Amino acid sequence: MPRVTIIGAGLAGSLLAIYLAKRGIEVDVYEARGEMRLEQVDAGRSINLALSDRGITALRQVGMDEYMLAEAVPMYGRMVHAPTGDTKLLPYSGRKGEYINSVSRAGLNIALLNEAEKYPGARFHFNMRCADFDCGSGEARFDSGTIVTNDTTIATDGAGSAVRQSMKEQMPNFIESSIFLEHGYKELHIPPRAGDHQLEKNALHIWPRHRFMMIALPNFDGSFTCTLFLAHKGENLSGNEGAPREGESSQCTRPTGRVSASTAAFDQLTDDASVLAFFEKEFPDAVPLMPTLVEDFFHNPTGNLGTIKCSPWNVNGKALLLGDAAHAMVPFYGQGMNCAFEDVRVLASLIDENGPDWQTTFADFEEQRKPNADAICDMAEENFYEMRDAVADPVFQRKRELETKLEQTYPDYFSKYSMVTFREDMPYAEAKARGNAQDQHLMKICSEISSANDLDLDHVIESVRRAN
Ligand SMILES: Cc1cc2nc3c(=O)[nH]c(=O)nc-3n(C[C@H](O)[C@H](O)[C@H](O)COP(=O)(O)OP(=O)(O)OC[C@H]3O[C@@H](n4cnc5c(N)ncnc54)[C@H](O)[C@@H]3O)c2cc1C
Repeated sequence: MPRVTIIGAGLAGSLLAIYLAKRGIEVDVYEARGEMRLEQVDAGRSINLALSDRGITALRQVGMDEYMLAEAVPMYGRMVHAPTGDTKLLPYSGRKGEYINSVSRAGLNIALLNEAEKYPGARFHFNMRCADFDCGSGEARFDSGTIVTNDTTIATDGAGSAVRQSMKEQMPNFIESSIFLEHGYKELHIPPRAGDHQLEKNALHIWPRHRFMMIALPNFDGSFTCTLFLAHKGENLSGNEGAPREGESSQCTRPTGRVSASTAAFDQLTDDASVLAFFEKEFPDAVPLMPTLVEDFFHNPTGNLGTIKCSPWNVNGKALLLGDAAHAMVPFYGQGMNCAFEDVRVLASLIDENGPDWQTTFADFEEQRKPNADAICDMAEENFYEMRDAVADPVFQRKRELETKLEQTYPDYFSKYSMVTFREDMPYAEAKARGNAQDQHLMKICSEISSANDLDLDHVIESVRRAN
């Protein structure tokens, strides 16, 4: 039987272990963290994630979809919160049954570990941090001093991949680009009230504020996990702290440590007063729901957001990068995990075709997946600006209304969001090309009208079909 080393027992590594073990392949999975089922370990970057069709399809192939969806909270649309406190639901799709699901990262990871361990050929080794990988010999070396060589190695060790770092150092043709947003993120908490959700349960809540935003995803236990996306560094305020900015009221009576929207940044939110003042000004409807806001703000880490693209992913059949190790993306399309799960499904189908010919399988994998990974990385970055700015723009809101009507009326119409999120049969690169052309066309139409109700839908769909 072939033997495969997997580095990293996160979401992609654990699912991959199931796929390979199911095929009779012996897998040894080495994970840097402790055993998350026995001890409290940092589950990773976000507490919950949006699981959608590409990820569900990959889970279904190993019989894990229904199990995971049983504890997921469906989210049917974006609930946009205006600064006035007014809310508006923008459905994700005009079609019934097309929605995304909020799942617990730790719950999903543990379920995948449990499932993988049902196969005697799958073994997990915790507290084993890979230090480097020898691209010539195929040896994976660990901090503990252990050296492992199996038939091949698949690196699912995430955005900071040690294997990718070794490839960069040892392969002269290795290219890597990493671009970090000036924004970071921080997770905050809305607890349940009397066991129930305090906001509409079946929606992804967004407070878009142009230069920053907050989102909240529901958890199964009645709570929400909020994520504030904000610039790390603000403008230099020296000598000017607290003074009103141009366009701001000079009668503003906020407490000391005040931060104006134009300068808001993590480095400006340094004490309880500045945090409270910022939230009360920008997210007034959320503050009463967040009793531990200040404690959470200072206790929880501020994370970085970046896009990593690299090539090659294949080291002559001796190693392969997969998931975030190959293509980390910003989280604004909710696709990082879904894309990593799709990677696993595609790799398994190529193993079925090629058998344990790792060089052919890995080369085919990279050829198929690289253009699609690049496309979703780009779209994820573009969606940051859409969520932060456009969802609050009336033309964009009319376009979403029009798209919902088109999806309700014409079975062949899919918005770009739907192509990415609900069309697991459509490669990301195709969704990007078709979606961008369609978006441009519809934005133009919606900029010339005052209501989507004014439009003749048959006329619009014909023009969309022609534009495609
Ligand atoms: C704030 C935020 C929100 C997100 N929301 C969504 C979402 O809604 N939907 C979605 O689809 N995606 C989302 N993502 C993206 C998603 O988290 C990642 O794409 C996904 O976790 C990738 O899985 P992975 O297994 O490749 O990497 P990871 O989940 O990062 O797993 C890597 C594993 O490797 C281990 N490891 C690391 N280094 C080593 C080493 N040297 N040796 C051994 N083990 C190692 C780590 O401990 C970890 O267990 C979000 C990301 C962020 C940051």
